[in-house]
Amino acid sequence: MSVVSNPISRRNMLAATAAGGLLTATTLAQAQTGEPMTEPRRPGRGGSNPGPRNPTRERQNPDLISPPATDHGTLPNLRFSFDDSHVALQSGGWTRQVTTRELGISKNIAGVNMRLNAGGVRELHWHKAAQGRNFVDDVDVGDLWYFPSGIPHSIQGLGPDGAEFLLVFDDGDFDEDNTFLLSDWFKRTPPEVLAKNFGVPASTFSSVPDPSELYMFPAPVPGPLSSDKIARAHRMSAGGTTEVPQRFSHRLMGQTPIQTKSGTVRISDSKVFPASTTIAAALVEVAPGAMRELHWHPNTDEWQYYIEGQARMGVFAASGQARTFDFQANDVGYVPFAMGHYIENTGDTTLRFLEIFKSDYYADVSLDQWLALTPPELVSAHLRTDPQFIHALRKDKVPVVAA
Ligand code: MN
Repeated sequence: MSVVSNPISRRNMLAATAAGGLLTATTLAQAQTGEPMTEPRRPGRGGSNPGPRNPTRERQNPDLISPPATDHGTLPNLRFSFDDSHVALQSGGWTRQVTTRELGISKNIAGVNMRLNAGGVRELHWHKAAQGRNFVDDVDVGDLWYFPSGIPHSIQGLGPDGAEFLLVFDDGDFDEDNTFLLSDWFKRTPPEVLAKNFGVPASTFSSVPDPSELYMFPAPVPGPLSSDKIARAHRMSAGGTTEVPQRFSHRLMGQTPIQTKSGTVRISDSKVFPASTTIAAALVEVAPGAMRELHWHPNTDEWQYYIEGQARMGVFAASGQARTFDFQANDVGYVPFAMGHYIENTGDTTLRFLEIFKSDYYADVSLDQWLALTPPELVSAHLRTDPQFIHALRKDKVPVVAA
């Protein structure tokens, strides 16, 4: 007996009866959803997909299901959606993370997506050893901030609707659940030691809450920053510590972008944001059909966050290896060190994404510009292209090329 019961075939037959003709699995899927779906084939290769099928997933992955003929080899996965991450629900908001545990290749960088309700506080904490300086600022949409490892900090959502933001850590193994929490330390220190340390009775600390209650907790929405700064100046004149010597926030959207015909790039690294010594970033906007040009980064891996729109990225990994991935809003993408890549806007709205690097400087090498600055005879000898190609090469970098 070699008969396998296939429910899809049965559905096909039923559909064929209803439509008075033979429907393939493809057309059946289209008929069910009204939208065309990608089949795992191209001329001379592949075949239909009898199922089971997940139409929503398939429509997000046309270049995985039917890869360009140029894809080859076994490059690891370079994409993970925050929507496939566990969400930790807290009394002051929620949080989720993409680390090496979710996206194995991402050794350099981990990302945390956090929502603080109005007034919600991410408990005072730090990552690794601490220094005692302080800094308070209001940050808004498009602003960056940077906390060096060891510098203690908290984050509070302001009115009227709090905040949602992306935190980026220069360590792929980072775990948001494994930070140094203020209340945790108090809980793990004998009350008599706390009493001695602060010169107050031990009973002072009898109602310090359990760390599980804090982490992200609700608090009143604070007043304007100016009043807070005056109050803080009074505390300091009474013998407090000094403020940190540099700004930890930066208005990325306040920068004049690199503007091309079909896009913009805003680069932030330690040149314009001196505090940001281990993270460099670029915010890239690409018009429909346009493309972040073929390039690579000579300093380190690239970690990406897709803010809006739709894209596909092709990555060339040397040794005949290449792979193409599709991206949606809320996806994380990754390009290992030195690999060539392009990012194409495949949607009909603006594509907006962040490029993040564990580096104090931003650097990219444009394939177009590199070839334009190479002796033409050498380029022709390698690629056997006609003079028209040499003529078209651009000596000035065009990070986003037109459709
Ligand atoms: Mn890049």
